Amino acid sequence: MGITTGEYDVIVLGGGPTGVSAAISAAKTGARTAIVERYGYLGGQATGGLVILLVGLTNGKERIIKGFCEETINRLTELGATRDVGRHVLFDPESMKYVFDLMIEENNVTPYYHTFVSGVIKEENRVSGVITESKSGTRVFKAKMFVDATGDGDLAKYCELPFDIEQVENRLPVTLGFRVGGIDTASMSKFIRENREFYQNLLNKHGISTKMGGWVPTMHSYEAWFNISTIENIDITDANDLTKAEIIGRRQIQHIIKAFREVIPGFEQGYLIDTASQIGVRDSRRIRGMYHFTQKDVTRTSDDVIALAPDYTDSGRGFVQVPYGCLVSKESENVIFAGRCISVEHKLLDMFREIPCCMATGQAAGIAAAYAAGRTGNLHTVDIKAVHETLLSQGAKLSHLLHVKT
Ligand SMILES: Cc1cc2nc3c(=O)[nH]c(=O)nc-3n(C[C@H](O)[C@H](O)[C@H](O)COP(=O)(O)OP(=O)(O)OC[C@H]3O[C@@H](n4cnc5c(N)ncnc54)[C@H](O)[C@@H]3O)c2cc1C
Repeated sequence: MGITTGEYDVIVLGGGPTGVSAAISAAKTGARTAIVERYGYLGGQATGGLVILLVGLTNGKERIIKGFCEETINRLTELGATRDVGRHVLFDPESMKYVFDLMIEENNVTPYYHTFVSGVIKEENRVSGVITESKSGTRVFKAKMFVDATGDGDLAKYCELPFDIEQVENRLPVTLGFRVGGIDTASMSKFIRENREFYQNLLNKHGISTKMGGWVPTMHSYEAWFNISTIENIDITDANDLTKAEIIGRRQIQHIIKAFREVIPGFEQGYLIDTASQIGVRDSRRIRGMYHFTQKDVTRTSDDVIALAPDYTDSGRGFVQVPYGCLVSKESENVIFAGRCISVEHKLLDMFREIPCCMATGQAAGIAAAYAAGRTGNLHTVDIKAVHETLLSQGAKLSHLLHVKT
């Protein structure tokens, strides 16, 4: 089976914004924690995917997501690596990689980069270890609790837990992000504003949908992040499809840059700085949790809330409450899920998959896992009041809680 490497209270699988939040929060709660990431850096889509804008932070008036997310913003701001853009916060992705390395070290979380989680060792309703592949060969990591922050709910598949996944043709498109330098973003912006139909036709001509995505000037002069490539009908759980998506994405980007240079004022000297090192996946497996969040829950207020998410329905409340049960499966006592793979109805996924909300569910998952590891050994019997108190002490925002003084 391979060499056993370390035994932990909590192992977090996946080092994106969700995973880093979970690992640091578990460690702060007293758990001996490790984080396992397939690439050589932390941040997932927020760094390697070039998704450099924190969206969904507010209810329109004030920040609804604080805790680990706010701590990250503060650390980046100290480095001069953030800028407010309306309700959103723009950041520099290389600074985020650096800040996450520092935060992991400061909190005594053990990082294992370049390590892909490829399977589990399962005993009835529990996982005793995860199997990984890397340059070191096949290794097994053991822990009392596991947090699945892979974004794709990989452990749900390995453990054969119930999950939902849309038919390929109904999934949100895959996008390869890219950055362009040497452009006059003000002139571009003006031209696009005044020639919207022309711009949309230009994108459509190159196979790019105008339904989602856009472009934003980055922290640096004459530079912008483009989140526009549109690659449809990709099954991101299939490596062959992912290969195809990378190739289509890069081709689309070359073609669109050439077209922009020819017709968009301000883009004449534009050059490609980089394409994202992680292809952008919006939508994959979502576990079937002990609680499944649907439209009727948008205005729900309850004692089992562990995070807030922005409300993109027309309920008027400005936020929704994420119940603990959306993170745990009835069929697993020691695997908790966080980020975009939690148990929510597909049409509501946009409210839960943005970086701030992923950090918020990650924080709750890390704390719950630490409690379960140190006490009952079972995620189904975690004391939610204790989780709430720790979330609040770590700066998270949980409004409308009856039994906790905020
Ligand atoms: C194109 C696009 C644009 C977006 N725009 C915005 C935006 O403007 N603002 C916003 O806030 N959000 C945006 N989002 C959403 C947001 O980026 C993601 O939903 C968020 O990053 C999810 O965080 P995560 O940590 O759960 O997953 P990810 O960021 O995907 O991180 C998962 C991590 O797990 C690792 N991993 C996966 N599987 C394994 C495995 N088996 N073994 C080891 N490691 C593994 C990955 O390498 C990765 O580092 C966008 C998403 C996309 C795709």
